[in-house]
Amino acid sequence: MKIKTSEFVMSNSDVTKCPNSQLPEYAFIGRSNVGKSSLINMLTDRNSLAKVSGKPGKTRLINHFLINDSWHLVDLPGYGYAKVSKQEKKTFQKYITAYFEKRQQLVNTFVLIDSRHAPQPIDLEFLEWLGMNAIPFSIVFTKADKLKPKALENNIADYKSKLMETWEELPPSFTTSSAHKIGRDDILNYIQNINQTLV
Ligand code: GDP
Repeated sequence: MKIKTSEFVMSNSDVTKCPNSQLPEYAFIGRSNVGKSSLINMLTDRNSLAKVSGKPGKTRLINHFLINDSWHLVDLPGYGYAKVSKQEKKTFQKYITAYFEKRQQLVNTFVLIDSRHAPQPIDLEFLEWLGMNAIPFSIVFTKADKLKPKALENNIADYKSKLMETWEELPPSFTTSSAHKIGRDDILNYIQNINQTLV
């Protein structure tokens, strides 16, 4: 898929106020610092699209971007902030949960995982929660350039083995590096293929 246009639409914390449109929607989520903004900018071929919504105070909102006038890319807040108060965490969890439970337009969620690290409970629990709620997802391993090929291969294999302990089938997964522009076509073609089945 060629990205011809990408524009910021809106930010909010209330799923009922998300764009009133039937366009298919693809969400991106992961721990803070996993490389989500960089991935979104790589996918859209823009230097700072994700940062438009990343201004202070907007980082914990649901951010909609319109791509090629035909689908929405949704930048969801990063989870696992160490510095957030319990109350803030609760509020945040509430509207993210509401987003996943109520947003009918959501077609697929890309869960970003830092390829350098061993499986973390916070990510595994989140994947489990998506599964229990029947929310389709794929895994995006990020920052692949930071590891040597063999170490990367081993880490991804380990991650998949860990998932196989609880899942019968592995979800689709992508290996990416925003620094080296790896994985861009794979993700965009995946989205395009799904979009074509929806027309
Ligand atoms: P976010 O908090 O998940 O949106 O993460 P960012 O996109 O802001 O990235 C966090 C840090 O990781 C920044 O310093 C990025 O430059 C770095 N980073 C993100 N993606 C990559 C990547 O593919 N390769 C490398 N080497 N660094 C990356």
